[in-house]
Amino acid sequence: MTEVQQFASDNYAGVCPEAWAAMEDANRGHAPAYGDDDWTQRASDAFRTLFETDCEVFFAFNGTAANSLALASLCQSYHSVICSASAHVETDECGAPEFFSNGSKLLVAPSTDGKLTPEAVRTVATSRSDIHFPKPRVVTITQPTETGQVYSVAEIRALSAVCRELGLKLHMDGARFAHACASLGASPAELTWQSGVDVLCFGGTKNGMAVGEAVLFFDATLAQDFDYRCKQAGQLASKMRFLSAPWVGMLESGAWLRNAQHANHCALRLAAQIVDLPDIAPMFPVEANGVFVRAPEPVLQSLRERGWRFYTFIGGGARFMFAWDADPARVDQLAADIRSASAEIGAIRSQAA
Ligand SMILES: *Cc1c(COP(=O)(O)O)cnc(C)c1O
Repeated sequence: MTEVQQFASDNYAGVCPEAWAAMEDANRGHAPAYGDDDWTQRASDAFRTLFETDCEVFFAFNGTAANSLALASLCQSYHSVICSASAHVETDECGAPEFFSNGSKLLVAPSTDGKLTPEAVRTVATSRSDIHFPKPRVVTITQPTETGQVYSVAEIRALSAVCRELGLKLHMDGARFAHACASLGASPAELTWQSGVDVLCFGGTKNGMAVGEAVLFFDATLAQDFDYRCKQAGQLASKMRFLSAPWVGMLESGAWLRNAQHANHCALRLAAQIVDLPDIAPMFPVEANGVFVRAPEPVLQSLRERGWRFYTFIGGGARFMFAWDADPARVDQLAADIRSASAEIGAIRSQAA
């Protein structure tokens, strides 16, 4: 592969050495199918060790499946799920949560920064209680959010308190859960079950694996028949060890956290180098592995012409995402190009004035 690093998505990166080595180890010989193998047992135990609790662990191919099936397991078809407007389940899963739950409706709660608040949850959950409206049953939060904000332990606790009061379950979309742990310096246990989270979808793909997300149930009764749900949805891997072994590599080596720390540092590294530019404004505080900047369109165009790829699907700003392998020199190159594009466009503007 010769292509230079781009930061358009943290999914552009390849597989980290720890995950790859575990895949190679798992490839030595035969093993029982459908999760009845030692790797899957070891990965599940590694999650229980990391989370300091006896949780139920399942493996899915991607985040859409993990989220959708987890939400479906918490809902009847006449229930609803409260989420924020920018939640991946709402904006980027093609209706899969509704599909796999046979119609449970997503209810979008108002949010200024993509984070749900106890007040917003309460407002939505109590807005209707009549027979004509789908009964609120679950709250889902994304940790960190799609725009890189993290929920503190206190914020999660406040949300779970209102959930408990209103009879709602709390689901966490942790596609970048490792990045939240790294950002907050909090343990996986603190950020989940110790703060009242019932189910976590823990992302492996954006953390350095080729593929795979884990679904962790902290209340075993909620996991009842989840294995059937996974199978029916096409999420039961027959050669399960290749989905589970990378987790062994990630969790036992500590790569899950190191990778996230590195990615977060690269985001801060970029942000720090462009903070003083007058026409480049951060759209969100940098708390995880992403940097979102608002810039004049000619600056963005100049960056594209310099070969940079990035998405602008969130509010028209440019999104840069950093992965486990982000090269700091390449981050610096991006910062330098943003500076120079900004200066170039600034100069053209002042000539015109
Ligand atoms: C990437 C991502 C997912 C998972 O997406 P898939 O493409 O289905 O793996 C889920 N939630 C969030 C917030 C994400 O960023």
